[in-house]
Amino acid sequence: MTAGGRACLAAMSADPAHALVATDYDGTLAPIVDDPAAAAPAPGAVAALAMLASRAGTVAIITGRDARDAVGLGSLADVPGLIVLGHYGAQRWQDGMLSEPPEPPGIRVVREALPGLLAAAGAPAGTTVEDKGTALAVHTRRTADPDAALALLREPLSRLADSTALTLEPGRLVLELRPPGMDKGTALRQLAAERGASAVLYCGDDLGDLAAFAAIRDLRADGLPGCAVASQSTESPQVSAAADLVVDGPPGIVRFLAGLAGTLLSSGGTTPRTPRGAPDGSAIVSGARSSGLGTTSCTPRGAPDGSAIVSGARSSGLAATSRRTAPSSGGRGRARSSRRPARRRHPACTGRR
Ligand SMILES: [Mg+2]
Repeated sequence: MTAGGRACLAAMSADPAHALVATDYDGTLAPIVDDPAAAAPAPGAVAALAMLASRAGTVAIITGRDARDAVGLGSLADVPGLIVLGHYGAQRWQDGMLSEPPEPPGIRVVREALPGLLAAAGAPAGTTVEDKGTALAVHTRRTADPDAALALLREPLSRLADSTALTLEPGRLVLELRPPGMDKGTALRQLAAERGASAVLYCGDDLGDLAAFAAIRDLRADGLPGCAVASQSTESPQVSAAADLVVDGPPGIVRFLAGLAGTLLSSGGTTPRTPRGAPDGSAIVSGARSSGLGTTSCTPRGAPDGSAIVSGARSSGLAATSRRTAPSSGGRGRARSSRRPARRRHPACTGRR
């Protein structure tokens, strides 16, 4: 581990209540599989996150997936207080509630155009399209020659992205068309600012995670301790090259996070995660969110389409108190009120890069 990474872990041990631990899902918490709909967490992943959540101020997933998919696949609703940022941060799931922007118009055009485009381009058998709602991903992992298929499709998909004001994001044997303007680095920086983080750690495995690693470097240059952890993959060696620590795939990530949780639980940090005045063991639930997430509505899981409750968007300037009614599924159907610990503003956490 680099000296910067070690400094971040030391800062987290000294002040776990303001630690932000964030991780990607696919390839990081969950092994890559042929069918994205079958990506389950590595053994022990959810338990490690839950242990972290009992001590660290903020634990988050930042994924290119729809947040609901990640929560469902990973049984992530079992992790108290977890924040899941889906679609590279455009979506937010927290405490059973989802907020997301409307579908960009270009996505509908791409959805309709893709079958014909793939046929015209000669996409080989095994090419699959994953519809993420506000993004569409073309996978070549199941073709006879995944790298050749990816090279074949890159140019026509790039033209389609250009014509629909979308961006083409490469990944591990996948090309994804999605709205521009949001990436995991932006999402991580906004979350660090919102939560008043005093140290930030991020785990990832793919090219889309490099933006989050860059955010870690930027925050560190501004004086905020940070650590980038790579889930090693031969498919994206650039990620390991940019990391402070490289571990052996999702099982290595699970061991690392469990070890970090153990360290934080036994550390001498003096600021408890439980907010002042709250009952013992009560989880922190933040109602405040960064105003930069483009949030337009807050919809409970299982609610009818289009049913919006409240915006929930508010200034990130002060500690906030919230009360929400969560849906009844999964034991989350009760009004919860909580208060976040007072923000500890760091110069690097004021929204600037
Ligand atoms: Mg990944």
